Amino acid sequence: MTTREFVDAGLQLPLMEAFYTIQGEGKFTGHPAYFIRLGGCDVGCVWCDVKESWEAGKWPIVSIEEIVAGALAHPGRLVVITGGEPLMYNLDPLTKLLKEKGFTTNIETSGAHPFSGDFDWVCFSPKKFKKPHPSIYEQADELKVVIFHDSDFKFAEEHAQSVRSSCELRLQPEWSKADIFTPKLIDYVKSHPSWKVSLQTHKFMDIP
Ligand code: SF4
Repeated sequence: MTTREFVDAGLQLPLMEAFYTIQGEGKFTGHPAYFIRLGGCDVGCVWCDVKESWEAGKWPIVSIEEIVAGALAHPGRLVVITGGEPLMYNLDPLTKLLKEKGFTTNIETSGAHPFSGDFDWVCFSPKKFKKPHPSIYEQADELKVVIFHDSDFKFAEEHAQSVRSSCELRLQPEWSKADIFTPKLIDYVKSHPSWKVSLQTHKFMDIP
């Protein structure tokens, strides 16, 4: 098989970085977690804080066995697959192997590509810059909308209409505009109690 065929099969993936830290956002805030950041994203958020991830070809192609071995080197058994946009790849083989090794699997995705993988928790963070693929709505356990502009509240409500009733709803101020939007978000959640506030607590802890 060629490298391209291995990547298409999800047996090898472009790995930007992988690191053991504390999950700072969303449902698993505060939990130790091994982050697997895959390279490649075609969503193009203007405020993206990992723009260096966008070009998949910049990152080494790594076998899923090697990726999982990296995770096994740490005591925590929670893995978060992120990017870039991780659903650009077939995540079935990687998540199957992670689960065989006893990991709880989480994903953070914009949902812009067809869903794949076996995940215990799916954090769906839709972006205005590329429409989500319909397959994400049945999978999302958590809808996390980043608030960067006043119109993002309406965008959040539109997506909340399409997820399952069990999906947890979170609003998160974009970091560079947190001074402006955190107070607005607090008021919004107080008057729209189906939502919760999500903060990027890892930034306060100064960890990745
Ligand atoms: S989806 Fe994520 S990685 Fe891609 S541009 Fe947006 S914030 Fe950046």
